[in-house]
Amino acid sequence: MTAKIIDGKVIAEQVRGEVANEVRQMVAQGLPRPGLATVLVGDNPASVSYVRSKQKACAELGIESFGHNLPASTSQQELEDLLGKLNADLRVNGILVQLPLPSGLDEERALSVISINKDVDGFHPINVGRLAMKRRDPVFVPCTPAGVIVLLERSGAKFSGARAVVLGRSNIVGMPAALLLVRENATVTICHSKTLNLPEVVGQADILVAAIGKAHFVRGSWVKPGAFVIDVGINRVEDPSTKAGYRLVGDVAFDEVKEVAGAISPVPGGVGPMTIAMLMKNTARAARLAAVKG
Ligand code: NDP
Repeated sequence: MTAKIIDGKVIAEQVRGEVANEVRQMVAQGLPRPGLATVLVGDNPASVSYVRSKQKACAELGIESFGHNLPASTSQQELEDLLGKLNADLRVNGILVQLPLPSGLDEERALSVISINKDVDGFHPINVGRLAMKRRDPVFVPCTPAGVIVLLERSGAKFSGARAVVLGRSNIVGMPAALLLVRENATVTICHSKTLNLPEVVGQADILVAAIGKAHFVRGSWVKPGAFVIDVGINRVEDPSTKAGYRLVGDVAFDEVKEVAGAISPVPGGVGPMTIAMLMKNTARAARLAAVKG
């Protein structure tokens, strides 16, 4: 059997189209355009490039973006003062602090200064806490795990009663992905570096989410036939045949697993494009919520 390929580019494009429509409707109703403030501290090349992609997506969907680039020498107080100003700025519906922050800055403290109603990355401790609580709803859910759920939903995965296994327990991917799957009524096992008998645990999964950052780690022989496999990992492997000398691969041994799984997301072109699409969706939602509150 060869798995259905879950095309993240196509699904992300659908989500972006829905967001562009929502923005058009808001403008037609006389509401202000949604606005996203990006806060970049320092000049880490990967962070610079991520922020640029987010601003480009805003421009494409009719969302205003307000870029704030601070030097790596910025103090915690200066960063928090800026976040306070952005909290008060009515043009700004969402605030994105590009992570990681340079060493010396307290990420947790900075994220907790952001208003939970502008926390479009979903990393504020209150939003994370609500995600973990029954009958409480976070205002926003972190973008990559939210994208994982949309990929599964739109590929026909059934959550209720399914056995889901999440590899990885990080704050930004593994743990929120597991919490979202629980909210969808899956029975969830979270695995990490101390998990024993990993292949056996993975073999029980109807839904497998791999987010550990290890190239080709999950083997075809581990996977339950017919499972939905979402590969979040982004790893560089040497490849002298490419111009850059490397290529990107996931945490799943794609060629093996696609012969066993029912559906699988590739790397690149799976979860990657979903993250920014979900950020745009959260920003439009933030603007709608702000408009309702008046
Ligand atoms: P982290 O390094 O923060 O977390 C990795 C997790 O994997 C940890 O919980 C760790 O366990 C677990 N782990 C590591 N080795 C093993 C192992 N051998 N067996 C089982 N579990 C293991 O990574 P992130 O969550 O930030 O990212 C994971 C991957 O997803 C990376 O490749 C990253 O590049 C990618 N990513 C992709 C995004 C996208 O948009 N597509 C967005 C964000 C991340 P422990 O807790 O015990 O240390």
